[in-house]
Amino acid sequence: MALLTIGAFARTCRLSPKALRLYDDLGLLPPAKIDPLTGYRWYAPEQLSRARLVAWLRGVGMPLARIATVCDLPPSDASAEIAAYWAQVEIEIATRRELVSFLVEHLSRGETDMTDTAPLRLRWATHRDRGLVRERNQDAVWAEEGLLGVADGFGPATETVIPSTAALNALAVSHAVARTGALLEALRTAVEQVADTVRTMTTLDPALAGSGTTLTALAWSGSELALVHVGDSRAYLLRDGELRQLTHDDTLVQSLLDEGRLTREEAESHPQRMILVRALHAGATAPPDVRSHSARPGDRYLLCSDGLHIPVPLNQIQRVLANQVDPEIAAAELAELVHHAGAPDNVAFVVADVLSE
Ligand code: MG
Repeated sequence: MALLTIGAFARTCRLSPKALRLYDDLGLLPPAKIDPLTGYRWYAPEQLSRARLVAWLRGVGMPLARIATVCDLPPSDASAEIAAYWAQVEIEIATRRELVSFLVEHLSRGETDMTDTAPLRLRWATHRDRGLVRERNQDAVWAEEGLLGVADGFGPATETVIPSTAALNALAVSHAVARTGALLEALRTAVEQVADTVRTMTTLDPALAGSGTTLTALAWSGSELALVHVGDSRAYLLRDGELRQLTHDDTLVQSLLDEGRLTREEAESHPQRMILVRALHAGATAPPDVRSHSARPGDRYLLCSDGLHIPVPLNQIQRVLANQVDPEIAAAELAELVHHAGAPDNVAFVVADVLSE
């Protein structure tokens, strides 16, 4: 078939002649023939499919070096390479989204100086008990400067080595090791370690088969605060008297609610409301979610296992958190409410206040 001029080829594949010359220089799309006298470039019609692929990949923003790799792969490998590229882009976008929401919130409060943000100071009270029904306590709680967390273990684990405690331990250790960098980056590394730890322990020890844990944690460093979450333990924020749930339950019932297939009333009494769709266990495919959260002085946080948020109505939790200034007293009152409600499950929680200067 006759060769196409650079202009005709450019029009057909929707790349500019200038781009075609660049791709020739880079060896990405050399012309079929270059006239030795005029230097004029000619392209073969068979080159159109490669040129269109280059144009599409430029359209999704793939760098030229990577496009060159993709173009030289057989279709199934090229498809896997494009999927891998896009997964990486989505991670980058998620990180930028977090930064953007931080900036939007920060600037909307009229604060333009971000270098001089005061380091966060928190005080907290924790509570953990077996409840009145369960024989063992598989809930764990962690509290130290920079890291507060609760984890609700499940499965046949014995009380001495339970995945919930292991997960919080692993988070504390990995977080401390990785903490020199930016908080979110450090936490992302840390939660991968945590997922690995739980996966390994519940795979290697037959006594722990089928065990796992939820994990909800608050980590802070300097003026930055972040949330780690997987499962159905919850993080709440009391701000300006209003109690807001910060985490999304990874439960079957929550998925049905999200899809509009259940009403909130039906969800509250659903027989399968304990079924988790995500947690830390041997078969878990993804580590817990990590996201930044913009804290303010006066904020009060509650991290709790479902041993608190299922039996005790939310308005009672809110009333205690809003009325009791001292976190120790608030925690003691919440523990009392759990026992009044029959304490059907293990319970672990942390009440934490962000202090002003
Ligand atoms: Mg529980």
